[in-house]
Amino acid sequence: MSGKIFDRVALIGVGLIGSSLARVLRRDAPETTIVACARRAETLASVRRLGLADETTDDPVQAVREADLVVLATPLSAYAALGRQIAPALRDGAIVTDVGSVKGAAIEALQPVLPGWVHFVPGHPVAGTEHSGPEAGFAELFHDRWCILTPLPETAPEAVDKIVRLWEGAGMRIATMAADHHDKVLAVTSHLPHLIAYTIVGTATELGQDLQSEVVAYSAGGFRDFTRIAASDPVMWRDIFLSNREAVLELLQRFSEDLTALQRAIRRGDGDTLHDWFDRTRAIRRSIIEAKQA
Ligand code: NAP
Repeated sequence: MSGKIFDRVALIGVGLIGSSLARVLRRDAPETTIVACARRAETLASVRRLGLADETTDDPVQAVREADLVVLATPLSAYAALGRQIAPALRDGAIVTDVGSVKGAAIEALQPVLPGWVHFVPGHPVAGTEHSGPEAGFAELFHDRWCILTPLPETAPEAVDKIVRLWEGAGMRIATMAADHHDKVLAVTSHLPHLIAYTIVGTATELGQDLQSEVVAYSAGGFRDFTRIAASDPVMWRDIFLSNREAVLELLQRFSEDLTALQRAIRRGDGDTLHDWFDRTRAIRRSIIEAKQA
């Protein structure tokens, strides 16, 4: 980031994403005052120990006072109540942005409660790991990843520009799209794969005790990769599925039809169908590597 864009940034939520952004600000804009807000004393103690904020508080109202940027980086289910709470304390002209993984629900929760004197720029830095909390963050998390912004028609372009500069400064590429389109795309690229991982790993844990210990001992690449994804934060992912219900359910329908087709091919010994399918999926992997998103 080339220097200071904001004087005072309030981070509501300082877990993986919030603390990674704090690290970027600390590195590139040390003159920016960072106020970190979380509910638990231990979270705030970690933030202080890691030197990620100038001030810490468990009071969101106190956190946002005088902030020219407020970043919501909590699980989605906290948005509506937080929005209502902070609304009267927001400074005139402040920018409110968020990092939530479902944009339709984020807008639905925040837009009606935010006052007309602030600029709301919904966003989603598409970058993450399966780890949570302030200790898990790192400044390079966002490097070369996409940040999707879903501004509303009434969002002031100057406010969007500042958020673009913020995430570009963190090393991200920026895309702008409608919130419902974002939610459909992410259902494919992120939400369904997580649901599948949660299912597979859950199925393994339902197996008999003997088989279960063998699953752990002989866990081969495939299963091991799924366990990494299925170790993602339960609260965050509960919220994502409940918030993006429609897109996920529609996609799940298509997925089960495709699964049935592959099931039939296996039962019938139809190697051509299997081979063609795997050939196509391998090509997708190659294009992701070429796009440097692997
Ligand atoms: P995280 O590591 O679990 O951090 C969540 C933070 O929010 C913690 O600091 C937590 O601290 C705080 N918090 C929770 N409820 C709160 C409340 N009501 N008021 C104030 N603070 C609260 O989560 P994360 O992975 O950073 O995810 C945060 C958001 O980013 C989510 O909306 C998620 O959809 C989005 N996102 C995540 C990823 C990813 O891969 N992880 C990627 C992109 C976007 P306390 O428990 O102490 O309150």
